Amino acid sequence: MTGDRVAGEVTRPSPEAAARAKDDLLRTTVDLQRELSSADFDDAEIVEKIIDRARLAMGAEQMTIGIVDGDEIVFRYLSRSSTWQLALPPGSAPVRIPVDGSMSGLCVRTGQVLLVRDSETDTRVNRVAFRTGGLRSRVCAPLFHEGAVVGILSIASPEPDAFDGEDATRLELIAGAVSAAYGHAIDLAEKRAALDDLATAVAELERQGAELAFQALHDGLTGLPNRTLILDRAENMLARARRGKLSTAVLFVDIDQFKNINDNFGHQVGDELLQALAVRFRNELRAGETIGRLGGDEFVVLLESEADATTLATAVADRLLDAVRGPFTPHVENSRPLFLTASVGIALGPRDDAGALLRDADIALYAAKAAGRDMRITFSPEMGDAAVHRLAGDNYR
Ligand code: GH3
Ligand code: MG
Repeated sequence: MTGDRVAGEVTRPSPEAAARAKDDLLRTTVDLQRELSSADFDDAEIVEKIIDRARLAMGAEQMTIGIVDGDEIVFRYLSRSSTWQLALPPGSAPVRIPVDGSMSGLCVRTGQVLLVRDSETDTRVNRVAFRTGGLRSRVCAPLFHEGAVVGILSIASPEPDAFDGEDATRLELIAGAVSAAYGHAIDLAEKRAALDDLATAVAELERQGAELAFQALHDGLTGLPNRTLILDRAENMLARARRGKLSTAVLFVDIDQFKNINDNFGHQVGDELLQALAVRFRNELRAGETIGRLGGDEFVVLLESEADATTLATAVADRLLDAVRGPFTPHVENSRPLFLTASVGIALGPRDDAGALLRDADIALYAAKAAGRDMRITFSPEMGDAAVHRLAGDNYR
């Protein structure tokens, strides 16, 4: 191989051994075809073993596979007789030679099998390169993929006239087997890449699906559970209460005169306050307690207790009312702190269904609004009629 240097004594197989090996060549080529096409072409160890068998069958000191890489040919696989020592240390970077001006390159450009019987007399080759590599004769056969030359398979010897026309034909046969394997490896790599793309696409779809599922059950502005999820959680809470004799409560929290905020400071400031309120409310609750946004400036809290939920509900309501009272400073230029209040309606379970419990809380909230705002009121059955107009058109069920 051009560029390789030889150190040490060179021996060739005996003529008898070489003849025997050549007789087995057809068999070897068939085996090669089978082994190479099932091997991972990138597994250097496997390919080298197979190439070594082919080299022995050819009776050559050296066999190499070079793969075209742009303007260069990279020699990736090398098989050599044990006495044929390369000066290059093992594990060093693969040898690269330019396509232009080399015998391997000529093979790549013409797509023809080339036989050099003696580099000292053949005018097509770079005599200096052969001498540097310690070579005198060589056969080079092209490797094809989809009609284009993608590399070369070559055998070489330090002796002149080591190969003849028959050897060239045999090498061409083996090159056919290697080409098929190379094509198989490329197809495999393309299929693997396609599978990777598919896996990425599936992961993205799963992510989008999870996002859509989240969006369907949460409020876009605050990220809190929406009405659908709240109703579902409230039903679950009531079912748990029935089984475990828990006491339950629902709180409706509605900001007082919130419309004024939008009218005086703009919708954007209103949105910012709703988001800040969501955070403040969340911070006032324990991990298992649910807070959601029903829409507008109305929030809802679900509470359950092994003891009477009344104490818990009023305590939470007072904390939420306090949380609203703390000043808000919107992130707009020259903004002054804003002070808000809220009203809270409390409904206590158990109740037949979540819709009834939420409706009770809404009626109590209306009572708190009617009584002057900035307060909490707990539902009682007498309130029912007074709040009917507020609920007109509402459907919590
Ligand atoms: P009340 O004391 O009776 O609750 O008076 P209010 O002005 O707060 O009236 P109500 O609760 O009935 O209406 C809520 C107002 O909140 C209506 C609308 O101007 C505003 N609002 C509703 N949804 C949004 C929203 O997503 N963003 C903003 N910025 N404002 C909203
Ligand atoms: Mg309001």
